Amino acid sequence: SGRAPPPLAALSQVLRLERSRRTGIVFPLQKLERYLAPGTDTARFRLFQPGLAALQRAEALFRSDRGHPIDYVSSAVRMDHAPPPALPEVCFIGRSNVGKSSLIRALFSLSPEVEVRVSKTPGHTKKMNFFKVGKYFTLVDMPGYGYRSPQDFVEMVEAYLQERRNLKRTFLLVDGVVGLQKTDHTAVEMLEEFGIPYVMVLTKIDRASRGLLLKNVLEIQEFVKENTQGCFPQLFLVSSVEFSGVHLLRCLVAHVTGNLPTVETS
Ligand code: GDP
Repeated sequence: SGRAPPPLAALSQVLRLERSRRTGIVFPLQKLERYLAPGTDTARFRLFQPGLAALQRAEALFRSDRGHPIDYVSSAVRMDHAPPPALPEVCFIGRSNVGKSSLIRALFSLSPEVEVRVSKTPGHTKKMNFFKVGKYFTLVDMPGYGYRSPQDFVEMVEAYLQERRNLKRTFLLVDGVVGLQKTDHTAVEMLEEFGIPYVMVLTKIDRASRGLLLKNVLEIQEFVKENTQGCFPQLFLVSSVEFSGVHLLRCLVAHVTGNLPTVETS
């Protein structure tokens, strides 16, 4: 379908913005730094801070063309229906309504032919959706969880996380407006128990006031520091509406799947 990518989906558009706005879109966490109390340790804000060249190389991976197809591959409800683990893989998990499909759509927005399916109808089987990004990596959209998730769903997610040999990193989405909820803690416990490396992504940051966002960021950062082993210490903030953090997340996905070995600092 000939849908045009939304504004700011491409770095070239972001680069035309004035400096402060540009920082807010590309490095939303850094943008918050100036509002912290003096002396606050911001080392965890800048662990992954790629330069423009790396961001551009990552963007190229997310832009399909004739020699580099990006496709929805298949859906699976059981592990024996999952495609062969041929490529490095990342998966996205989070509560229903956390903004997962919006984020995956934003990541793939430069390839508008990629269809990110949503199955939200109650009673509709929840599936794992696999996307193939050329010959470079696969991305899995895991079904959203909630406190009413049926047991077979929990078992599917657990089986995937435990068995998937090519899984390089799990992205755990948390609502940036409401912060960590009970079901998020359950997901963290599961990831910690399995010893799986993961990254926490705070969604919908355009909907939080700066004060609320700072409070949530500092609280979650502290939680990660005190209670987790497998979570990357830097939080990733995104808005699929304003495109903040999406370019940086593309770069992280490219990096953890081994497709961007050197990420020179900006
Ligand atoms: P999912 O259930 O995790 O796939 O969540 P969706 O992507 O369907 O999003 C749930 C709701 O939140 C929808 O109404 C979206 O329009 C909204 N939403 C998702 N991402 C954002 C965002 O970045 N900003 C804002 N303001 N709304 C968002």
